[in-house]
Parts: sequence; structure tokens; C-alpha cells
Amino acid sequence: MINVNDNFLKLPGSYLFTEIAHRVAAYKEANPQAPVIKMGIGDVTLPLPAASIMAMQKAISEMAHKESFRGYGPEQGYDFLREAIAAEYKQTGVDLAADEIFISDGSKSDCGNIGDIFSTNCKVALTDPVYPVYVDTNVMAGRAGELLPNGQWSNLVYMPVSAKNGFVPELPKEKVDLIYLCFPNNPTGTTLTKDQLKVFVDYAHKNGALILFDSAYEAFITEKDVPHSIFEIPEARDCAIEFRSFSKTAGFTGTRCGYTVIPHTVKAKGSDGQVVELNKLWLRRQCTKFNGTPYIVQRGAAAIYTPEGKQQVRQLIDYYMGNAKIIRESLLKAGFEVYGGVNGPYVWMATPNAQSSWDFFDYLLKEKNIVTTPGVGFGPSGEGFIRFSSLGSRENTIEAMGRF
Ligand code: PLP
Repeated sequence: MINVNDNFLKLPGSYLFTEIAHRVAAYKEANPQAPVIKMGIGDVTLPLPAASIMAMQKAISEMAHKESFRGYGPEQGYDFLREAIAAEYKQTGVDLAADEIFISDGSKSDCGNIGDIFSTNCKVALTDPVYPVYVDTNVMAGRAGELLPNGQWSNLVYMPVSAKNGFVPELPKEKVDLIYLCFPNNPTGTTLTKDQLKVFVDYAHKNGALILFDSAYEAFITEKDVPHSIFEIPEARDCAIEFRSFSKTAGFTGTRCGYTVIPHTVKAKGSDGQVVELNKLWLRRQCTKFNGTPYIVQRGAAAIYTPEGKQQVRQLIDYYMGNAKIIRESLLKAGFEVYGGVNGPYVWMATPNAQSSWDFFDYLLKEKNIVTTPGVGFGPSGEGFIRFSSLGSRENTIEAMGRF
């Protein structure tokens, strides 16, 4: 028998959303009539923007004719989409070349795969609670060490965020190489100001570190002074990689499209001291392991940058942020301690009377028939919180909040 990658065996058995699905299924089986409303997993519910649908229909027709048929495309994405994204960045004052943008099948893959190009010796820092993909992929790569009884991994450096620090992570106390930041944040729904983010950029410069900035939820920002991109801070151009997604922005969770930005100025070194562009390394990685996002999907994604597409995306976001407002205000009115929901689609709520996340999850499921996500599933500092997603329907949101 062959040996497996032992790092996979270190991962705890059940993925968060599998456990939630299991508990919900068991409850529904015992209570088939219960009007259960799902506000747990962050999946969208509104259809794709009409502009994307039309563009994809046109692309399908192109596939039907010999002259316009497309086979394998460029691994890093078609120029029409990369250029549209670069033009969009430019409007916010960020100058990027199209070849600094890599199209993918979504940012989960990119956030997870990026670790391929870094040494397994890199010291990794991440916020706690955190999007579990950053943790688990570093476990798989062997960078995380061992799982400790307190739920932390021995080699990861945790930057807790809580009400105590206003959900602004403190800089790592020890020197780290890779820093994962996600703002607007999943799961807390909170953001950093430009000045707060600059503190991390300065740290990265001083310590030769690299920031992996996940801005999958940037389209949900409503307030000024909240950066949409880490590259709004000019100094980040040589110490950051940015991940973005069409999933929540434009309903592409099932259609699949995202992108990663790696400016040519971001560099790192080999163990022999050779300095390399991470852009080149990622291109090499993608060309080897990835064969590109479907042409049809990229056409659908590019359509969100047309005037009609922009307007339709705005409507989607406004709808979800309307839900977020309802959730936030209803819970506050009911006397709960609540965060997020202003610049991101998640509302982060402290459980009453210091109940555990899972106990309160079970209470909400059984007594209110509402499915949430237990905060502890996002890391030890998420204990005592639950997450509400605003990506459901307006009717369900109103109905669920009425139950408080
Ligand atoms: N990054 C964060 C913080 C997310 O919450 C998610 C999805 O929930 C993703 C990335 C993945 O998005 P995609 O659907 O593009 O893979």
C-alpha cells in the first residue's frame, strides 16, 4: 500500500458546512413541517445579471459554429476579461497591466492553491476567526504544525479579532512571512480603514513579508475610506497579492469565476538567493495545473463591466445589503450584540449569556427554525458568536427576523 500525504490526516474530520447540513437534515427529518430558513452558508439566491446571461448565450452560439468555436483558451484568462478588470481597477486609481491579472474558476481555488509557490518553511499568520480555506490548505501543505487542544495549530500565528480590538487585528508579535487578510471579512462582516490596512503593508515592507489579501466581498462596501483593493495603498504593489471573485458580486457561485492580481513588482527568493517575480511563478503554476476558465463563463463575467451589467450588479448588491440592514437592525433591536452587515453581507452576533456557538446554533435551529453558522467553526476566537448571511431572499430575511 502506498503512503498518503500525512498532512491530510491531521485535518479534523468534518468540514463545518457538512456538520451544519447534517444537523439540519436530522432536525428536518424529525420535524418535516418545520419552516426552516437557511441563513448559514454564504451562497447567493438571486439569478445572474441579465447582461451576463445574454453574453453567455451569445458565447454558446459562437461555440455552435466552426468559425467562432473556441477550444482551450489561455490558462491565465482571455484578454477581453483581463483588460476589462484592469480598466475597472483604473477607475479607482489602481494601475494594473492585464498580465498582472489571472482569471480562475473562483477565488477558493486561488486562495487555496497560492501556497504551491511558497516554501513550506514560510511562517503563516492569519486572523482568528478566519475563512477556513486559508488554514486547511496550509495544514495540507505542512505549514500548520499540529492541532492543539485549544483548536489552534501549533505553527500558525493567530491574530485574534473581537469586539475588544474593534475587529482590527494586531500585528503578529513574531516575524512572519505570509499574512492572510480578508476584508470585508468573512465571517465577521467587518472592514479595515485604509490607515489600518497600511499598518500591515508597512509591516510587510519592514519584515520582507507578503500579504495575501482576499477582497471577495469588496463590492459590498458602502462606506467611504474602506479600501476595495489593497493596491489603493501604493506601497502594497511589491508586497501583496489580491484575490477577487465574481461569486458574491454577481451571483457566480455556481457559474465559477474569480481572479488573482500579482503585480510584477512582487518578488521573493529561492533558497539559493535567486530573486523571482511571483507573477512568473504563478503563471508557471497555472499553466501546469490549470487549463483556464470556460470561454462562456469569462464572457458572462466580462458583461458585468458593461453599463447595464454594472447597474444590474448594483441592484443585486443593494438587495443583499438591504437584507443585511434588516438583520442587523432587528438583532440590535432585540438587544443582541451585533457587528458587521454594513460593508459586507455577514452579520456577526455574540451569543447571549455566553452560550457556546454550537449550543446557540442548536437553539436557533430548534426554537426559531433558523439555520446560522456557529462562529467557532471559523476558529477558536469565533466561539461565542454566530454568523448570519444576508444572501437569502428578502421574504425569508423578514420572516426569520420576525421570529426574534
Ligand atoms: N474568499 C472568501 C473570504 C469567501 O468567503 C469565499 C466564499 O465564500 C471565497 C473566497 C470563495 O469564493 P469563490 O466562490 O470565488 O471560490
